[in-house]
Amino acid sequence: MREDDEGHMKIIDRLSMAEHPSKFFYNILVSNKFIPPAEQNIKWQADCGKQWSEAEWLQCFSNYRTISINNKLRSFKYKFLLRNIPYNQRLHHMGKSDSTDCPKCPNNIESIIHLYWECPEAERIWQCFINFWNYSYNSTVALNRGACLIGIGLDNMGIQKKDKKIFQLLSTLTCYYIHLSKCVQKATSMEGLIYKYLDCYKSEKIIAIRKNRLPIFLGKWDKVGECLSYLVL
Ligand SMILES: [Zn+2]
Repeated sequence: MREDDEGHMKIIDRLSMAEHPSKFFYNILVSNKFIPPAEQNIKWQADCGKQWSEAEWLQCFSNYRTISINNKLRSFKYKFLLRNIPYNQRLHHMGKSDSTDCPKCPNNIESIIHLYWECPEAERIWQCFINFWNYSYNSTVALNRGACLIGIGLDNMGIQKKDKKIFQLLSTLTCYYIHLSKCVQKATSMEGLIYKYLDCYKSEKIIAIRKNRLPIFLGKWDKVGECLSYLVL
């Protein structure tokens, strides 16, 4: 008998012996329900200078699950939301970095919000992101840290419902690009960012064709896909 089967047998045995089987079953379901941590929620709200509801915070975690077929990207987004990623302030606290400072602008602590938003290099790369977005959609959307980093407040930015998913994917890829550049200690660039988008676009297209889901793929990538497809040719 496999270990899984043994585990299920135990639950069935306990269920049959329970005084109130429905309550017993309910408690199992409730114990598995994901509750996003409040501490990180408060920190993100302070970093973004904005308040949001617990339901919106929970929604952030649901969004990342369907953001892409790329498991590495989904895993990064989950850790990012939990602030469980490398930045010098945290690395120094863990004894893994000599300094808390940002290597690109000394005397500035490299906190998570500095690395991903406030550092001049991060500002430049987010400007590339929004320029690319506005070019693709012929729009004049302004940068918003809550929307770009966490995926909250897209409605107030004038992002249409059908475009939310691709906005969240591109903004997550931008965060991921900053993260990877930090890991290899390389400067970010517009070309590097677009290459990251293109890489994701191409791998999702290959899988969409294989699984006969090209219309869904084209609907998701929409104007961004049209822009990137010129680069593939
Ligand atoms: Zn900096």
